Amino acid sequence: MMNTRRLSLIAFVAVLALLPVLPVPEFWITQANYIGLYTLVVIGLVLLTGIAGLTSFGQAAFVGLGAYTAAYLTLTHHISPWLTVWAGFVVTGAVALILGWVTLRMSGHYLPLATIAWGLSLFYLLGNLDFLGKYDGLLGIPALDFFGITLNTGRTFFYLLWALVVLASIGAINLLDSRTGRAMRAVKGGATMPEAMGVDTFRVKVTVFVLAALLASVSGWLFAHFQRTVNPSPFGLNMGIEYLFMAVVGGVGHVWGALLGAGVVQILKDQLQVWLPKLLGGSGNYEMIVFGVLLVLVLQYARDGIWAFIEARLPRVQRKVDWTSATALPERAKPPHGEVVLDVNKVRKEFGGLVAVNDVSFQVRAGEIVGLIGPNGAGKSTTFNLVTGVLPLTRGAVSLRGEPIGSLASREIARRGVSRTFQHVKMIPGMTVLENVALGAHLRGGKGVAAAMLRLDRAEERQLLKEAETQLKRIGMHASMHELAGNLALGPQRLMEIARALCADPTLLLLDEPAAGLRLKEKQALSAVLRQLRGEGLSILLVEHDMDLVMGLTDRIVVMEFGTKLIEGTPEEVQASPAVRAAYLGTEH
Ligand code: ADP
Ligand code: MG
Repeated sequence: MMNTRRLSLIAFVAVLALLPVLPVPEFWITQANYIGLYTLVVIGLVLLTGIAGLTSFGQAAFVGLGAYTAAYLTLTHHISPWLTVWAGFVVTGAVALILGWVTLRMSGHYLPLATIAWGLSLFYLLGNLDFLGKYDGLLGIPALDFFGITLNTGRTFFYLLWALVVLASIGAINLLDSRTGRAMRAVKGGATMPEAMGVDTFRVKVTVFVLAALLASVSGWLFAHFQRTVNPSPFGLNMGIEYLFMAVVGGVGHVWGALLGAGVVQILKDQLQVWLPKLLGGSGNYEMIVFGVLLVLVLQYARDGIWAFIEARLPRVQRKVDWTSATALPERAKPPHGEVVLDVNKVRKEFGGLVAVNDVSFQVRAGEIVGLIGPNGAGKSTTFNLVTGVLPLTRGAVSLRGEPIGSLASREIARRGVSRTFQHVKMIPGMTVLENVALGAHLRGGKGVAAAMLRLDRAEERQLLKEAETQLKRIGMHASMHELAGNLALGPQRLMEIARALCADPTLLLLDEPAAGLRLKEKQALSAVLRQLRGEGLSILLVEHDMDLVMGLTDRIVVMEFGTKLIEGTPEEVQASPAVRAAYLGTEH
């Protein structure tokens, strides 16, 4: 059965195919061509800004690199445009790689500022190089020749351009619906969670950055052969801002938002350029003022852009991935029962003058549930962050199955079999429960961007989704797997995090207050699942405030207070301890 979305896509392609042969005025064909050229760039921005959360004002510069590479090579060296497009990729890709490497480590507002800086620099560079004709640019670029057909009219050029736009859109949509796509989405909410799932967040950011630059580059290549001339002005900061504006107006989180934004802004700009001078008298770039006001309005009242409005009115499609016949993923060899899995040796964490964790030592053995309890602020979550590499140790050592892991990055520790949940749930609200959970299996797959765009990752994707479903079933959340994670109540969100952690096939599972927000039934179910996991040889370190749950479930308990280990013992010993009672009642002891 065909779903509405696929039908809309087919209808859209049919309209595109017919447009140039219908008696549409040349003016609108030209407009459509500009919209297509801009859409290519904005698709890149959707991936970069909307999905990965990296704001760039500098995309126009990458368009310029693509355009100038094509123009220069065809004009001076008579190289075929079908080769210069690749040369453009090499030049733009190299520049993006270097810029990304330097700037993507910046956080907060520094990155957008950096994009403005290099956007301006490249503009002035293009305008000052003699061999690129300075501000006059390069003239007389030949039209593209497509298997003997010269694309020297708007109508012929239209077909090549829009074929590429449709291909880029489908590629981007495929990418978002993949292992790498999930990692890209995860990066937006900060590095901690994706790194804990084994995602190399810096690498993901650089990859998206380069990909967005390549989309801009191909637009530039087309642009050069469409206009038949290049000069620096369409590649300046103004245009960089306009691209971002298109993305925001259309809907920065959606691939189709790119098309919509490019269309709306281009048509609006054209109309405003006609009407505003008539209304206001004289000439000037009045439309920039209207754009500014519009941008503020969109950000204020329609953060997700126009596409979000449309999407909300379309039927929500469940992705048709049938993974029933997928083979199970290979599993890690389990340590023998009783082996020391985690050895925490005199770990210490100081935040300035505050000693959050004070030379704490304990061990967790295979097939054992160890509770870590203590009043608020005792240092339990910080201990988790030390074990999982989220925070660097001030002193001390941590080893996993005998291997020191104290100085490893979070994702390297994850790769060795440590998986965790967070006290404050960290998820991607706009993704389904299933997709969120599948992110936990990131390290059990290996397919990258190209495979995802070309849909060569389906066998692996089926395996990953099957694993996600299996873990959701195990935790009793199977029924809500196609819901958006953000729509769940807090309790189920916590369970979802556990399923996600289990997807990594861990040796050691760290749960930070998993029962907070759960109802009694859910707590009982959780206990049963954790017992079953222990039976399968998994080791669990559990921070929890619900004492009934802790006492009923754990083999041993470590009690912390003010960063220091108070005592360690069986649940009975801990319950009988006067020092523990004093700590919980807050009295001196
Ligand atoms: P618990 O999880 O046991 O409630 P935490 O480990 O979250 O306690 O916190 C232990 C102490 O360390 C608290 O006093 C807390 O304020 C402090 N702390 C935790 N994280 C940081 C941080 N990133 N910077 C400074 N102080 C912190
Ligand atoms: Mg805590």
